[in-house]
Amino acid sequence: MSYAGVLARYGHLLDLPQHTAPVSLLEGNTPLIPVPRLAQSLGGGVELFVKFEGLNPTGSFKDRGMTAAISEAAGRGAQAVICASTGNTAASAAAYAARAGMRAVVLIPEGKVAAGKLAGAVAHGAQVVQIKGSFDQALALVVEISKKLPLALVNSINPYRIEGQKTAAFEVCDALGQAPDWLCLPVGNAGNITAYWAGFQQYHISKNTALPHLLGVQAAGSAPLVLGQAVEHPETVATAIRIGRPARGEQALQAAEQSGGRIVAVSDRQILDMQLGLAREGIWVEPASAAGLAGLAQEINGGRIDVKGKIVVAVCTGHGLKDPDIVRESMEPPQVIPPELRALENLLLR
Ligand SMILES: *Cc1c(COP(=O)(O)O)cnc(C)c1O
Repeated sequence: MSYAGVLARYGHLLDLPQHTAPVSLLEGNTPLIPVPRLAQSLGGGVELFVKFEGLNPTGSFKDRGMTAAISEAAGRGAQAVICASTGNTAASAAAYAARAGMRAVVLIPEGKVAAGKLAGAVAHGAQVVQIKGSFDQALALVVEISKKLPLALVNSINPYRIEGQKTAAFEVCDALGQAPDWLCLPVGNAGNITAYWAGFQQYHISKNTALPHLLGVQAAGSAPLVLGQAVEHPETVATAIRIGRPARGEQALQAAEQSGGRIVAVSDRQILDMQLGLAREGIWVEPASAAGLAGLAQEINGGRIDVKGKIVVAVCTGHGLKDPDIVRESMEPPQVIPPELRALENLLLR
């Protein structure tokens, strides 16, 4: 049977209205990649996998929720969608709206969106609006405007986004034949951790799989769920999780607690080091996507989590190609030689 996207594969397990009219780019079905060298660097004795969500059609997990949200909107005849975004939601909304023949409007915080994400939204024909302010302010605006104008809101406060994103938890369980012992992932607006927990709970009830512990990881400069209060001016190199007032913060805290896990913060240095560690194992992710594993490493090293003999899945949420600047900025310029064999040989033997 050919693969036809997450609604075709798991739609019967999702709470979507009758009128939903599938709009798909064959998202999902992303690989669960074993990373034995990283596992060794964490002390060994753990079966560690990366769920590489950067391999979705627009380069992030947002496509799982977006196919559901856009399909629902299309099915009731919506002509236009709107969202606030740190970048990946914009690219995903733009692509799925284009697919559905709808108009897309995306609000982004000024100057803080990675080049590859912004370019994607533009390429798909979205109307991109920059806010002289934060993501949180942009989100507040789109919530208000979608009450006044006929614009379907496709941020993760839209319940169908969460329904679609549950499919990642289903895929993890189906690939492993069981739930992992721990699942770690970055937390920004907290839709994804909410969706994973809902998905794991659903499989727990219907298929009797165990429940994993969830480790949600924020960036230290944008860690409202760790600090216990909103952050007015969130800062971090991991722009996808640069969010000070997570819309589903309460649910994220609940998911972490109910699962016997927790939410922790890591520094930008830890995030970038883990991004490099993943890249050196062949998996290039954007900075935010390395936060989950950086948090796991921190908790293992601090003796707070023991993963010996366990199965651990790290969700890597978005592709490194979206945000190449962060690597380019720290990169030595390539060596330059004349097009001569001798010069190449000398360089390589040096
Ligand atoms: C959106 C996003 C996140 C954060 O997900 P939330 O659901 O907002 O918590 C993390 N990483 C990447 C790459 C993202 O695009």
